[in-house]
Amino acid sequence: MKKISIIGAGNVGATTALFVAQKELADEIVLVDVLPGLAEGKALDMAQAGAIERFETKLTGTSDYSKIHNSQLVIITAGLTRKPGMSREDLLHQNASIIEEITLNIVKYTPEAIIIVVTNPVDVMTYHVWKVSGFPAQMVLGQAGVLDTARFCYFIAQELKVSAKAISAIILGGHGDSMVPLPRYATVSGIPLTELMDEATINRLSLRAQKGGGEIVELLKTGSAFYTPASATVQMAESILKDKKQILPCSVYLEGQYGISNIYIGVPVKLGINGVEEIIELNLTESELSQLHASAKIYKQNIFSLTMDRR
Ligand code: NAD
Repeated sequence: MKKISIIGAGNVGATTALFVAQKELADEIVLVDVLPGLAEGKALDMAQAGAIERFETKLTGTSDYSKIHNSQLVIITAGLTRKPGMSREDLLHQNASIIEEITLNIVKYTPEAIIIVVTNPVDVMTYHVWKVSGFPAQMVLGQAGVLDTARFCYFIAQELKVSAKAISAIILGGHGDSMVPLPRYATVSGIPLTELMDEATINRLSLRAQKGGGEIVELLKTGSAFYTPASATVQMAESILKDKKQILPCSVYLEGQYGISNIYIGVPVKLGINGVEEIIELNLTESELSQLHASAKIYKQNIFSLTMDRR
């Protein structure tokens, strides 16, 4: 029996639950939220859609962490979102306390679970979950690169007026303005993107992808994007639960790969039933590598700031 628990029944959490149910990726989904009634209400509402959408996944909403026992996968989406003008890093200290409490409950009730962290700033929060849980690094990973890459693919498809399904691309680095799109590795039905667009257009689309989350925050005024973040999280969940071994950019713990150590940051990995089964090391140019190192430097500082704060 496959069971997924999703912590946080807000926009990202509830949408993730609905996608998981519609795809019947799990037999059971437990949705947990600190606000009394919120997770129960959303789970009940979603479960009733099963009569129309024809899914049989059992959905439970609760504020009681003991219900997450025996989950193969826990997805953490609980926490504050940024408001217009805020960076993801502005959420660091408040979300760290929320994440800590949640992680201790995961350790207590479902210590065998793989954990996908979505809460921002995701690279630092994933590091924090890994530290607090004491779980092996391959069982704790963060969602960012799949979302950032989906945005990049969408912008490329729009520009070329082709199906987004034809685009394959990858974005590395932290989930912030320092992320590193790799146009050299982007293709359109196998054709290198660099043969279809000039450098100025590629740079414009890369920049829009880097600022893609902020663009939506400005439009929404309250809250941040959630449909594509949920979709990205479910792609990772599917690769893990079905042992699909997809190669996806995820925030993972690096121990020397790309010359980076002791932080979580986005790189391509193979995702399977054991979590992060392999970290893929691409041959980066000097400029790509220095951009990745610049991104890593920011997250190292954020981890340092978090560690000092929690002493
Ligand atoms: P939201 O406000 O809609 O939902 C957050 C939910 O968390 C709320 O329902 C709240 O009650 C709940 N919560 C707060 N503290 C909790 C606790 N201690 N235990 C259980 N539940 C708790 O926000 P959202 O749009 O769903 O976003 C959630 C988080 O995901 C934010 O930090 C956001 O920045 C982040 N996010 C990350 C990505 C990414 O790519 N990594 C993308 C989008 C959003």
